[in-house]
Amino acid sequence: MTTITSIYVTVIGTIFGSFFNVVGYRIVNNESIIFPRSHCPYCGQNIRTLDLIPIFSYLFLKGRCRNCHCKISPLSPIIEGLTGLMFLCAFLKFTNFHELSTSLLLISFVTITIVTDLSTMLIPNKIIVSFFIIYSGYRIIFPMNPWWDPILGCSLIFLLLALIAFLSNGGIGGGDVKLFAVAGILIGTKLVFIGLILALFSGTVICTIASMLKLIQRKQPIPFAPFIAIGMIASLFWGDYLFGLYQKYIL
Ligand SMILES: [Zn+2]
Repeated sequence: MTTITSIYVTVIGTIFGSFFNVVGYRIVNNESIIFPRSHCPYCGQNIRTLDLIPIFSYLFLKGRCRNCHCKISPLSPIIEGLTGLMFLCAFLKFTNFHELSTSLLLISFVTITIVTDLSTMLIPNKIIVSFFIIYSGYRIIFPMNPWWDPILGCSLIFLLLALIAFLSNGGIGGGDVKLFAVAGILIGTKLVFIGLILALFSGTVICTIASMLKLIQRKQPIPFAPFIAIGMIASLFWGDYLFGLYQKYIL
């Protein structure tokens, strides 16, 4: 991929990131995704087109609304930057249409859930159901081999995590369980279970470090969607390689 194409893909990714912010924010606030125009959450003033440029507008306005000067959450530019980066990595890693479309669909879902989980500690059913339908349709058009693998992955991970949630008395949230199950439809049994292991691993490492640095309190509820996102994306990118290592050295 040339430098120009890389920049182009990253910019498109940041625009999608901006859209995922809007989708996540509006769904948790029960607003329509399409109307009205983007507006400041504090004063309600419509945001000018020039102030909607991903990342740059936030930096230029020093993280404040142009009208009321209230502070805008830094989550927006972070999500935009991350999405841009993930789009770039997906285009660099995957060259065939099927792998690339799978990765972009996964990035869309996990990014929106990060927005809602970080802002409200919830993953709304509207998002879960929408992506359940999108992924099921996608898997009917582009079946896996064997065709029933996504159904198996979705059911197995749902049953396992629902059991853990029940036994641990809410140790894992219902939204998280459903997020894993829906991702299972897209990436199949093997990758969703590798994703679960990587999500738990990244969650443990990052929370231990954050707790040692006193950034979080012990027993403080932590939104888990960002770790599920790390696990699922890492699994999609390197799951087959990790599974190869596992077969070679452990089995
Ligand atoms: Zn404002």
